[in-house]
Amino acid sequence: MSPATIIKCPSCGASLTWQPGSQVLSCRFCGAQTPVNQLDLSGETPAPEREPEPLKGYKCEMCGAEIITGATTAATHCYFCHSPVVLEDRLSADFKPDGVIPFRIEREEAERQFQAYLKAHRFVRHSFFGSALMEDFSGVYYPYWVGDVEGHAVLDGQGKTVSTAVRGNYLYTTTRLFQLHREGELRAKNFIRKALSSVDRQLSDGVHPFDLSDIKPYTPGYLSGFLAEMRDIPKDGPMQEIAQEAQELAGSMMRRGMKYSDVNANVSLQNPAVTMRYVLLPVWVLMYRENGGNQIYSYLMNGQTGKVCGRLPINTGKLMGTAAGIGAAVAGALCAGGAWLW
Ligand SMILES: [Zn+2]
Ligand SMILES: [Zn+2]
Repeated sequence: MSPATIIKCPSCGASLTWQPGSQVLSCRFCGAQTPVNQLDLSGETPAPEREPEPLKGYKCEMCGAEIITGATTAATHCYFCHSPVVLEDRLSADFKPDGVIPFRIEREEAERQFQAYLKAHRFVRHSFFGSALMEDFSGVYYPYWVGDVEGHAVLDGQGKTVSTAVRGNYLYTTTRLFQLHREGELRAKNFIRKALSSVDRQLSDGVHPFDLSDIKPYTPGYLSGFLAEMRDIPKDGPMQEIAQEAQELAGSMMRRGMKYSDVNANVSLQNPAVTMRYVLLPVWVLMYRENGGNQIYSYLMNGQTGKVCGRLPINTGKLMGTAAGIGAAVAGALCAGGAWLW
């Protein structure tokens, strides 16, 4: 079994956890606070050259128990001694993240906002209040691909204008054809794609966007005390999609401001250079079920901005009575994702 890394307190050796509020690692035994970049990580596991094996076991450094993991788990807790552990071999070599947006929203704040969210949705069934059972409430870092694109865009084609004028008994139609050629440099940043296949698309779309200017260089300290998933989607697919999206963006930008009644043109993005970053983004995930019910509902909050998204048991009768017609919009409106097309 491989050791699961525990980020240790430099003063007493106990485990450290990342504190979203103060943005430091803190020790709950001696109270020492350690900035994430001052950790001595010389004991870091050397990077293996092959892919991590999903079924390999991990051993807790503190108590020796086996760490229970899913195939894509990259940070978790020891179920026996509750030490936060980071499975570093799943985050090394090709799988080492380029960056991470650390949690900024505290657990207490996420919980408080969840309660406020329930209250604010008056379409929720009355029986739901006070009886919802929390199944799970965790801060999870999810893997994403972020791509930047640079390329030389060229537009070639024809534009047409048509004008008419009446002179005497005649109607004159003038058609003018223009040869079009435009060139420009495209530099577009922060196209985002998911990097874990099991992420629920509607829900995860709902917590976007993240402020990607806040991406910090990856270090395992940010993960300590949270859950983290590793990617299972390789770079190539998302990279092609991003190049395609950049191509479409180039097409619309190069056509901008043309005052022809008809344009027939091709835009090509020549030799686009796509730079991909593998990043971990923070999400508070709350799973709950109604008392006596089997249906699991989820509520997600962006761990950086606090934007929420959730599914609630809707009282259809009440909804129809109050505002007929908006019913269909409600389920979607709770998770309005916008332009995140995966
Ligand atoms: Zn300590
Ligand atoms: Zn343990």
